[in-house]
Amino acid sequence: MREPVGKCVLCDKEVHCEDGFLNGVIGEDQKLRCFDCEEKEKKNSPTGSS
Ligand SMILES: [Zn+2]
Repeated sequence: MREPVGKCVLCDKEVHCEDGFLNGVIGEDQKLRCFDCEEKEKKNSPTGSS
């Protein structure tokens, strides 16, 4: 089962929910982002330091 959830706010790509698994991330601000943009934001953000 594949249903559209919305569009990524950053790249405007359609984000779907497949078998209950979301193809993206919804932030605290309720903004929808695809995994590509989520990955980029992680890399750009200094908070993910190990
Ligand atoms: Zn995106």
